[in-house]
Amino acid sequence: NQKIRIGLVGYGNIGRGVELAINQFPDMEGIAVFTRRNPAEVNSVLPAIKIDDILNYKNDIDVLILCGGSATDLPQQGPELAKHFSTIDSYDNHAKIPAYFEDMDNSAKEGQNVSIISVGWDPGLFSINRALFEAVLPVGQTYTFWGKGLSQGHSDAIRRITGVKKGVQYTVPLDQALEKVRKGLNPSLSTREKHIRICYVVSDEGADQSKIEQTIKTMPNYFEPYETVVHFIDEEQFEKDHQQMPHGGFVIRTGESGAGSKQKAEFQLDLESNPEFTSSVLVAYVRAAVKFKKEGKTGAFSVLDVPMSYLSDKSPEQLRKELL
Ligand code: NDP
Repeated sequence: NQKIRIGLVGYGNIGRGVELAINQFPDMEGIAVFTRRNPAEVNSVLPAIKIDDILNYKNDIDVLILCGGSATDLPQQGPELAKHFSTIDSYDNHAKIPAYFEDMDNSAKEGQNVSIISVGWDPGLFSINRALFEAVLPVGQTYTFWGKGLSQGHSDAIRRITGVKKGVQYTVPLDQALEKVRKGLNPSLSTREKHIRICYVVSDEGADQSKIEQTIKTMPNYFEPYETVVHFIDEEQFEKDHQQMPHGGFVIRTGESGAGSKQKAEFQLDLESNPEFTSSVLVAYVRAAVKFKKEGKTGAFSVLDVPMSYLSDKSPEQLRKELL
């Protein structure tokens, strides 16, 4: 049984996570990392290769995992690469997913490849649960809460403030809001009513901490519309407690079934490392791309189009025996 051969495109947090995750999937092997940077500057374990040479590897790779950013990398790299390789990506710009799907579908069909887009946890496993709960409980309301999670954009914004040496921001769901939803009260809640922002800051020596706190709390768009809490800590504590990229959250649907009984369905993720978990999901979907391709399917697909058994390396018979 030949292993599935995977190429990685881009080596950031997700690229590193995918490289690690492959080791836990016995039916997969990593072949190379393709990068836009000088390969000598990329400290991957797998061989790093200039992205310009990627077409030379067409016969050595079954599926590419695209690990670039959603803002500018994937919209450009995805449709180009889908003409030549089957792909998996974690495109997460929710509003633009339909347009991205269209582009990927055209390219993948042109190259007779399979592209599974927007794989991860949100979009990804959260989307699957929203779809599942909605389908089985048609009368009801679905809620998504995020956190506790590190927000890269908000952490960057804190670090740009004068007097801030180091800083991180976590988005945390508000207990009162979660409680109301879980009780089935069907509240209408804006994002700000569902989440609180908690910041941990190391200030420069002699910096005015109350001024920093004020600057954070009044920052338009980023913090001003939210309940924000700022904690000042020392550098040692920062290094000890705030080096991970945790995330997670909840998808909850409450509703009523036929005779009016109250029903609640809930899915939760509590992740110590967002990129490592996302990467693990990406690698599992490689199996689905390979199976789709074998069946002669071409074009783009989302996680909602992939049968659950296609994610496993076990046969459908084995899965029925063990998991049904
Ligand atoms: P990074 O910013 O870490 O990496 C993005 C790209 O930037 C890399 O592929 C790499 O490309 C380049 N890069 C990385 N490090 C450097 C560096 N030191 N100098 C120059 N360039 C660098 O992004 P993440 O890996 O954290 O995230 C990628 C995407 O994953 C996010 O945009 C997000 O959309 C998505 N995501 C989706 C989730 C989901 O649930 N669906 C969850 C989490 C993330 P190259 O090697 O070619 O230079």
